[in-house]
Amino acid sequence: MTQPNMDTFVSLCKRRGFVFQSSEIYGGIGGFWDYGPLGVELKNNIKRNWWRAMVQLRDDVVGIETSIVMNPRVWEASGHIQTFADPMVDCKSCKHRFRTDDLLPVADASAPGRCPDCGGELTESRMFNLMFKTFVGPVEGDASTVYLRPETAQGMFVNFENVLTTTRRKLPFGIAQIGRSFRNEITPGNFIFRDREFEQMEMEFFVMPGTDEEWHDRWIEDRFNWWTGLGVRKDTLRIREHTKEELSHYVEGIANRTDFDLKQHEQFAGRTLRYFDEASNQQIVPYVIEPAMGVDRCFLTVLIDAYAEEEVRGEKRVLLRLPHELAPIKVAVLPLSRNEQLVPPARRVLDLVRPQFMTQYDDAQSIGRRYRRQDEIGTPFGVTIDFETLEDEAVTIRERDSMEQTRVPITKLVPVLRERLPG
Ligand SMILES: [Zn+2]
Repeated sequence: MTQPNMDTFVSLCKRRGFVFQSSEIYGGIGGFWDYGPLGVELKNNIKRNWWRAMVQLRDDVVGIETSIVMNPRVWEASGHIQTFADPMVDCKSCKHRFRTDDLLPVADASAPGRCPDCGGELTESRMFNLMFKTFVGPVEGDASTVYLRPETAQGMFVNFENVLTTTRRKLPFGIAQIGRSFRNEITPGNFIFRDREFEQMEMEFFVMPGTDEEWHDRWIEDRFNWWTGLGVRKDTLRIREHTKEELSHYVEGIANRTDFDLKQHEQFAGRTLRYFDEASNQQIVPYVIEPAMGVDRCFLTVLIDAYAEEEVRGEKRVLLRLPHELAPIKVAVLPLSRNEQLVPPARRVLDLVRPQFMTQYDDAQSIGRRYRRQDEIGTPFGVTIDFETLEDEAVTIRERDSMEQTRVPITKLVPVLRERLPG
């Protein structure tokens, strides 16, 4: 079996309504994507799963949601204004812009070479800030310049004191957030893996200095278990250290941010951001462990990992073995045909199932094609209503991965599905 490449996923995502190019009818716009009817379900399921694991099932983490546009001083304190930049060159002829290190894997700034698009001459390399700029209020100018946040993390740091005083937390504790971030990437690519508008799930875990290494290890383990719990295969995941220079191409980073951010905000805001430790009777600046990941990257990883091609009776079957809790549609209700005798029982089954599980009703085309369509979008269960149903008040449940079929009385259908679809 051939290994599917990225085009396989781009085309599956488009064909089945997971992901579309943003503003596609105008030719699209690089680095921006839209999530379709199935994509938004999968994405919401990923976020709900993370939020549940990181916030709701823990008593040491709370959630917040902060604004995308913040006081620009935040980005001075965080270092993003000074250092969140990539070295770039422009083509003097076609005006295309490239990351210097894309053109020169072995960096040699003195000889930037020629434009890969037109062969034209290139400018000297210079720094290009990755933050999107905009203006607040009616006047455009330096005084009104603000940025679209390049990470959600700063929202947690600037609210450290608010959360501490309103929740009366003791160390260690964390603050989590899911939200959009923006980076004006020079070379967006790999589908939704590197985009300019994306969603992050980040958590800042504040700990006593000296316990940070231990907590770092614990969070690496915890997050690894979350991924495997989602059904992502262990051999897909690799834990390794990440160097400062390389492009981020990981699905999740777990960083020890030390006390850097809080100290910077103390200095720039002129406020003390301390935790009073009763045991030592001292004011302490906590260290921070940060598990951070991109929703869109997680989406793609889950999809790639779930993708399978099989041969069934001489025909290719494409399926997504998505974990049940992530599948966009949990149950497909499928009358055997459009015969009008089948409509009343099929509708009755739909009315039973739909309030309990995300359900799709499909009566177009042959039953075989409809099964394949559901397999391809990862629907765990199909429920078929046939002519026997009219006599025995029973339906057939077909399971996605094994294609096994079981006959169940309609009265038992919801409990049987509930047992197999927890959550
Ligand atoms: Zn050029």
